[in-house]
Amino acid sequence: MKQARRKVLKETREQGDTVKTGQKIEFSNGEFKVPAHPIIPYIEGDGIGPDIWRAAVRVIDQAVELCWHDSRRIVWKEVLAGEKAYTQNKNWLPQETLNAFREYRIGIKGPLTTPVGEGIRSLNVAIRQALDLYACVRPVRYFPGVPSPVREPHKVDMIVFRENTEDIYAGFELEKGKEQTRHLLDHLFEAYGWRIREDSGIGIKPISETGSRRLIRAAINYALRYRRRNVTIVHKGNIQKYTEGAFRKWGYQLAKEEYAEQTILWEDVMDTPPKDKILIKDTIADIFFQQALTRPEEFDVIATTNLNGDYISDALAAQVGGVGMAPGANINYQSGYAVFEATHGTAPKYAGLDKVNPTSFILSGAMMLEFMGWSKAAKLIETGLEKTILSKKVTYDLARLMPGAEEVTCSQFGACICDNMK
Ligand code: NAP
Repeated sequence: MKQARRKVLKETREQGDTVKTGQKIEFSNGEFKVPAHPIIPYIEGDGIGPDIWRAAVRVIDQAVELCWHDSRRIVWKEVLAGEKAYTQNKNWLPQETLNAFREYRIGIKGPLTTPVGEGIRSLNVAIRQALDLYACVRPVRYFPGVPSPVREPHKVDMIVFRENTEDIYAGFELEKGKEQTRHLLDHLFEAYGWRIREDSGIGIKPISETGSRRLIRAAINYALRYRRRNVTIVHKGNIQKYTEGAFRKWGYQLAKEEYAEQTILWEDVMDTPPKDKILIKDTIADIFFQQALTRPEEFDVIATTNLNGDYISDALAAQVGGVGMAPGANINYQSGYAVFEATHGTAPKYAGLDKVNPTSFILSGAMMLEFMGWSKAAKLIETGLEKTILSKKVTYDLARLMPGAEEVTCSQFGACICDNMK
C-alpha cells in the first residue's frame, strides 16, 4: 500500500517536473509559435480512451524522437474531463481543463461519454463552445490495404471543414407542449402568419455571415497552403434559401473579395479552370453524397454547415475504412486554439480490453504535429501506419474484413507502427 502511494507520489512529482521543463505555445499575428518542448494538454478519454491513448502517445513520441532525438519533445500534461473528472471531482468538465486548453493553445483528446441528465448536452460540444472552436476539420484519405465498401477508395482524398458553432446544432430547441414553445408558436403565427402544428417541437437554425465567412476562409486558406485544386461549398440552399443558400452566397462573395487573385469562381470558368487558381464551386448536399461516391476525385476541400458536415464526415470516413480510421480537429484560427481528437465514441463494450483500433487517435496526433509545423514526424507516422496495414497485422475491426490478416491488440498495433517507423 505504502509502496503504491510512494510510486504515485514519485510519478506525480516527475510529471510536475516535466511540465516545468516545457514551454507554452504562443500565438500572435495569426501564427502559432511552437517551442522545441511544447506543453500539450491531453484528455485520455472514457471507455476505450485510455487504451487508444496509450498506443497513440507511444507512436507520437517515437515519431518525434526519431526525427529530432532530444532536441524536440512534447511535454504532455494530463487534464481531466468525462468520467475520470467526475469520479475525482464530481465535475464532468472542470474549469482547469478549459483553462489549460486556453493557456497551452494546442491540445488533444480522446472520446468522452455524454453524461445523461446532467444538464450538459455533450462534453465535446461544451469544449468547442467554450473555446469557440468554429472549424471542425476532418481529413479523409485512403491507406492502401484498408478494407473498403467502394471499388476505388484511393480516389478519396478530401478534407472537410464543417462549421461547428451554428445551425440546428447550436442547441436552440424547445420541447413540444412547453409554455415557451406555445408562446413562440403564437408569436410566429401573429407576427408572420406561420401555422405550425401545436404538438411540434421547435429548433432554430441560425447561420450567420460572420460564422460562414470565417469557416469558408479557413477552408480556402487550407487549399492555398496545401495546393489543393478546389473548394466545394456544400449546402441545401435550394430549399433553405436564407440559411444554407446564404452560406453559399457568402462563400462566393468572400472568395471574390479576399481571394480574387488566387481563386476562380465556377461561374467564371469557360472550359477547364486555370491550373494556377483554386476553383471555388458549390454542390447541393444530396447530390454531393452521390458524387462523393461516383466521382470522389473531383473534390478536394469541402466547406459546409454543421449538420451537413456531420453526415458528410462520417459518410466519407466509411469509404476509407470507417470512423476507427478518421482523425479530426476543432480549431479557432483567429484566436489560436486547436483541439485534436479521435472522431469515434467511447465504445464502452470494448473498454479496457486493449482491442480497438487506435488509428483515429494516432492520425489525430499526426494531424496535430503537422499543424505545429512538425511535418516530418507527421509523415513518419503515416508511413509507419501504411506499412503496418500492408503487413496485415491489424486490430479486430480491420482483421474481420481483411482475408489473411493477423489480429493484433490495440497496443501491439501501436508497437508495430513504431517498428515500421524506424
Ligand atoms: P462509438 O463509441 O463510436 O461505437 C460504435 C461502434 O463503432 C463500436 O461498437 C465499434 O463497432 C465501432 N468503433 C468505435 N470506435 C472504434 C475503434 N477505435 N476501433 C474499432 N471500432 C470502433 O459510438 P456509440 O456507441 O454510439 O457511443 C458511445 C459513447 O460515445 C456515447 O456516450 C456517445 O455520446 C460517445 N461519443 C463520443 C464522441 C466523442 O467524444 N467525440 C463521439 C461519438 C460518441 P463494432 O462493435 O461493430 O466493432
